[in-house]
Amino acid sequence: MNPLQVLGEENPFEAMHARFDLAANKLGLDPGLYQILRTCDREITVSIPVVMDDGSINVFSGYRVQHSTARGPAKGGIRFAPNVNLDEVRALAAWMTWKCAVVNVPFGGGKGGVICDPFKLSKGELERITRRYVAGILDFLGPDRDIPAPDMNTDGQVMAWLMDTYSMHRHEHCTAVVTGKPIELGGSLGRVEATGRGVMLTTRESLAHLGLKPDQCTAAVQGSGNVGMISALQLASIGVKVVAISDIRGAIHNPKGLDLEKVRAHVAKTRSLEGLDMGERLTNAQLLELPVDILVPAATENVITSRNAANIKAKVITEGANGPVTAGADKILDEKGIFIVPDILANAGGVTVSYFEWVQNRQGFYWPQKEVEDRMEHSMVESFRSVVDMARRFGVSNRIAAYMLGIDRVARVTRMRGVYA
Ligand code: NAD
Repeated sequence: MNPLQVLGEENPFEAMHARFDLAANKLGLDPGLYQILRTCDREITVSIPVVMDDGSINVFSGYRVQHSTARGPAKGGIRFAPNVNLDEVRALAAWMTWKCAVVNVPFGGGKGGVICDPFKLSKGELERITRRYVAGILDFLGPDRDIPAPDMNTDGQVMAWLMDTYSMHRHEHCTAVVTGKPIELGGSLGRVEATGRGVMLTTRESLAHLGLKPDQCTAAVQGSGNVGMISALQLASIGVKVVAISDIRGAIHNPKGLDLEKVRAHVAKTRSLEGLDMGERLTNAQLLELPVDILVPAATENVITSRNAANIKAKVITEGANGPVTAGADKILDEKGIFIVPDILANAGGVTVSYFEWVQNRQGFYWPQKEVEDRMEHSMVESFRSVVDMARRFGVSNRIAAYMLGIDRVARVTRMRGVYA
């Protein structure tokens, strides 16, 4: 049987294609461009032999997919997780292409992943996996080729190892090959907060669009990693009461609001919500169905599907994660009148500041945090307005409008560049 059929609505690449087809059809996309943009430009699979701490050898698998480089070098994160697979990486790479186009940064789309469980690895093992993976894909990376960044279970330290491995091979100090680096190594002020801050900004704009006041709204956030934790803190900073947050093991819920600084300190220390005594425990599935105004899925794909979409009670869903809503759930949520800020807009604050980091690296001149934040806010608000305007003009959902905006921009440059023969 076709493995895609087994995965059904939960295959992220199929989910991307389902939305792509709707948007391409609405745009009347030329059939040749349709074929080009639906396919990934390059897919690299590497095997990663690593000497473990006990002296044994383990062979891990890693991927790097470049979906499109029409508008600029490929750009996208690297994910370390046990369930990484090629279709997931393809989908994430394509979403990066549309995302960069929606916020108009001059990058294409790429993504990488290594099948491993970082929670079961020592720091030394993680470093050896990272360096060997980077060595395997090195010829395809570069400031004008492909620029990775952090994603699920990777952070500034992993980006520092990547930058070092690349620089050692090239015999040059190369900061612009990767973003999300520590500040001391050429990272940008404001990059760590950028994705969560973008989630807050697009939520703020959505509330204003719907005539709702932040200080009269409640929110539930799935995930307490980089995106989830910072989204929660940022929403609280504009007056939203955050009543629930989760990690992979489950959620904590307190209708009176959570003490987020305490949650942040606990997660920073233990990497988990276990042991926090500030409300009732819920499952991740229960968190999604809470009677809140704002829901921020900021953990992983496929958490809102055709099976639970009818039970969602939020008025606004801001997609901090990539692909949290399946194509099967879109119709149900739209019929319920839920206002969705799609992933390729909602979490684009991260790649926007990654672009600023790359620019600063190439200038060798570093900007104050306020400049980074002001430029990012301007870009996110403009992009939000463009998407909502597109949705109104074409009578489509925000998601399809965002795809249309992104696809149209990529299609234009692809047409201008022509087909090299
Ligand atoms: P992270 O590793 O920092 O945090 C992930 C969080 O999700 C953790 O709290 C983890 O416990 C939880 N989680 C993992 N699997 C889960 C599951 N199956 N069910 C419930 N919870 C689960 O990762 P992150 O960087 O915050 O990324 C989260 C999402 O945001 C991903 O979809 C990622 O692609 C997307 N994203 C991240 C960035 C960025 O700048 N980091 C930018 C854009 C999009």
